[in-house]
Amino acid sequence: MGGTTLTRRRHAVVVGGSLAGLLSARVLLDHFEEVTLLERDGFPGEPVSRPGVPQGRHLHVLWEHGRGLLDGLIPGLESDLLAGGAPDLRLPADFLWLTSGGWRRRFDTTRMLTFSRGLLDHAVRGRLFGEPRLAVRTGIEVTGLTGDEAVTGVRYTERGDAARAEELMAADLVVDATGRGSHAPAWLAELGRPLPRETRIDPLLGYASRYYAIPPGHDPGWKALYLQAGPPEAKRTGGLFPQEGGRWICSLSGAGGDYPPTDEEGYLEYARGLRDPVLYEAIKDAEPLTPVVSFRRTAGHRRHYDRMRSWPAGFAAIGDSVCAFNPIYGQGITVAAASALELDRMLREDRSTRWFQRRAKRAGAGAWLISTGEDRRYAETQGPRVLPHTRLINAYVSLAVRAANTDPDSCADMLDVLGLAKPPTSLFRPAALARIMANRSRPPEAAPLLPEPAAR
Ligand SMILES: Cc1cc2nc3c(=O)[nH]c(=O)nc-3n(C[C@H](O)[C@H](O)[C@H](O)COP(=O)(O)OP(=O)(O)OC[C@H]3O[C@@H](n4cnc5c(N)ncnc54)[C@H](O)[C@@H]3O)c2cc1C
Repeated sequence: MGGTTLTRRRHAVVVGGSLAGLLSARVLLDHFEEVTLLERDGFPGEPVSRPGVPQGRHLHVLWEHGRGLLDGLIPGLESDLLAGGAPDLRLPADFLWLTSGGWRRRFDTTRMLTFSRGLLDHAVRGRLFGEPRLAVRTGIEVTGLTGDEAVTGVRYTERGDAARAEELMAADLVVDATGRGSHAPAWLAELGRPLPRETRIDPLLGYASRYYAIPPGHDPGWKALYLQAGPPEAKRTGGLFPQEGGRWICSLSGAGGDYPPTDEEGYLEYARGLRDPVLYEAIKDAEPLTPVVSFRRTAGHRRHYDRMRSWPAGFAAIGDSVCAFNPIYGQGITVAAASALELDRMLREDRSTRWFQRRAKRAGAGAWLISTGEDRRYAETQGPRVLPHTRLINAYVSLAVRAANTDPDSCADMLDVLGLAKPPTSLFRPAALARIMANRSRPPEAAPLLPEPAAR
């Protein structure tokens, strides 16, 4: 089942108006007469974060590959972000980057766009909303699906009015983009479908973030700091990245239950416990602009919709709803964009929603492998047993990290993989392998003070 393609393309409903939902709506407008976006939150008129996307108050970045995907889906987006003040950083040239294998030399390898989530989402909405065939309804909580063999619509209530009866909205296609907390498995169970298998890997990671004003005249020779954990013992990561508005966002995180505190003193003390004091030194006298906020819903999960024996026509799930990763690698938006392109392909090639779920899984496969592999380095990580091949791959990745720290081509290989431009298997190509083996044992250098010219 689920092999049937859509026979009617009059009305599509997207549930959830964060990035996976917005990008899906963009794609569906090319294939349906009308698209309705249902979001339980309100959308702010300003580039600020909102309660429905609580992770939006923490560090978000976009790798070069994801940036290209997004700009392809929403033409003009990148120039809007740059006009809004989003810093466009050379990676790693503009960074002091302490990896698990030591300091990374500051090659000019690729680029990374940083921004507040408020700015990114506002810019996407700015390009999308106003499209006459798109109806945007806020304050709408979707509570279930209608249909049987095929999904035929959604059930919903208006938020804040508990007494109000559920209403129905018919659709030829429903796309679930409700994120990590998606109730799609329960919604499908109500239609008589079995629950999907789910893999969950939880490194017990917590974030705590705060904005600081960048001190006037601050010019230590770097624009961003990224101090990664050194698993299994050193569990703390710290990122200090510039954002629009002359601010730094400081996101501290700890795996294995080593959660960063949110009180003033505890936060600074935690920063002091990172593997190098440079971040602590930068923030200790800087002016805080916000209180410290925390986020702990970071477990990786993968719902195996692609493996269900039957899948309803008229329904697709996308983004964090299907697969969410340890956020430390900054890959969720790129995966959402790649999946939206698969949704487009499904409709252009007249494929089934079941086909789409297989493609969505593939779109997230690299990010899943990277993040769960790293998560398994911590003894405290909860999830399925660590298999011997994971240990072997992790040992190889450790060598690859060391090589990337000192060799410009290995650095490019590594960043292509982390940024999802290439699959993790590309690190096993003969040329990459030869570079890794040639550079694996160079000792990590001291913090590199100067950026280097473009490598390739
Ligand atoms: C701390 C943290 C940092 C991250 N950093 C990065 C990064 O640097 N780079 C990157 O690419 N990714 C990052 N991510 C991942 C990124 O935030 C997500 O992948 C991205 O937001 C896409 O998610 P989504 O649209 O699938 O779901 P979400 O962003 O979670 O949005 C779900 C939406 O659905 C709405 N909703 C939920 N239930 C209902 C309902 N029943 N009815 C109606 N509406 C509903 C919610 O209000 C919300 O708007 C990070 C994640 C975390 C947790």
